[in-house]
Amino acid sequence: MQYPEPIAKLIDSFMKLPGIGPKTAVRLAFFVVDMNEDDVMEFGRSLVNVKRQLVYCSVCQNITDKDPCHICGDTHRDRSTICVVQEPKDVTVMEKMREYTGQYHVLHGAISPVDGIGPEDIKVSELIKRLEDEGVKEIILATNPTIEGEATAMYISKLVKPIGVKTSRIAHGLPVGGDLEYADEVTLSKALEGRRDL
Ligand SMILES: [Zn+2]
Repeated sequence: MQYPEPIAKLIDSFMKLPGIGPKTAVRLAFFVVDMNEDDVMEFGRSLVNVKRQLVYCSVCQNITDKDPCHICGDTHRDRSTICVVQEPKDVTVMEKMREYTGQYHVLHGAISPVDGIGPEDIKVSELIKRLEDEGVKEIILATNPTIEGEATAMYISKLVKPIGVKTSRIAHGLPVGGDLEYADEVTLSKALEGRRDL
């Protein structure tokens, strides 16, 4: 079926979102058509603002609206430990646990030769620079328990060893092949407890 151009474009946009197929995209697009104009404007502004108003924290590389981010700027947090995660959403998951009081580093991806993603495509060099500048004693590698996540953890631990910083890997309790984001807090807490040296 041929939709009017503005609707067809909106359907295409919705289909770029994860988990949204053609049927859902059509349903959402027609829902927007029926929404009141203020809500649509607000929605549009929110979409643009997440791109325009967010930057990467110059310390941990997490997305933030102020630099340094609220975690890096918090003087009460332990500066000797850095927890390395793949995505900004993983920081949120770790923070929900309320047990970890150290710093973070967000890689924005994982090494995946199959997809042509190498160490230079993620924020590894920024991490190494932090280890040289700051009084960091330990990094906890909390990348996902997937092939890519494991490869990334191994790569970083090899890179970090000569600097003399201890590296550990969370492992225990996390389902293999899973995403950190889907782990419940107890599982994640156990995984952090049971971290092993690399
Ligand atoms: Zn930060």
